[in-house]
Amino acid sequence: MDQSEINVESLPIVQIGHPVLRTCARSLTLAEIHSPEIQQLIYQMKTTMHQAPGVGLAAPQVGLPVQLIVIEDKQDYFTQLTEKEIRERDRRPIPFHVLINPKLIVDDKDKQVEFYEGCLSMKGFTGEVSRALTVTVEALNEKGEPITIHASGWYARILQHEVDHLHGILCVDHTKPKTLTTLENYKNFHRSP
Ligand code: ZN
Repeated sequence: MDQSEINVESLPIVQIGHPVLRTCARSLTLAEIHSPEIQQLIYQMKTTMHQAPGVGLAAPQVGLPVQLIVIEDKQDYFTQLTEKEIRERDRRPIPFHVLINPKLIVDDKDKQVEFYEGCLSMKGFTGEVSRALTVTVEALNEKGEPITIHASGWYARILQHEVDHLHGILCVDHTKPKTLTTLENYKNFHRSP
């Protein structure tokens, strides 16, 4: 489809409490993946993620319970982090990509790391979440081709967070309750100097 025909307006991001965030998303067929509707949705989700801005967005977050995720992490997004924070998080730029019908496997359940984590559907809040250090994800890309991803560090965290969205799980479900904080108070009291 010609770019000018695509509606690239960003979509509203639904917030915690909306039932769509608690439903199990259904998988997409190859015919659906190739359809103009899903191709347009991918484009709209990319725009929505960029405008938010966020490093990942799952279709239920724009009100659609289908197994579709977009991810992109940019250097620009972690300029506010110190060298030490970047190193601890093992955070690197991740190019834009699409995951459809993903299956996530935790490589080693014993290797977990804890960091504060936020969500575009829990605007203004963050809390400490323990996540596996490395994961493997098998999925389809936007063309319906099978892909396998071996990820570690912050990228592995993004993948776990986004795949959870497809199963009706939010990061607050994993958050240690007493660490839940507004972003403002995170910056004031919890961010290591
Ligand atoms: Zn989220």
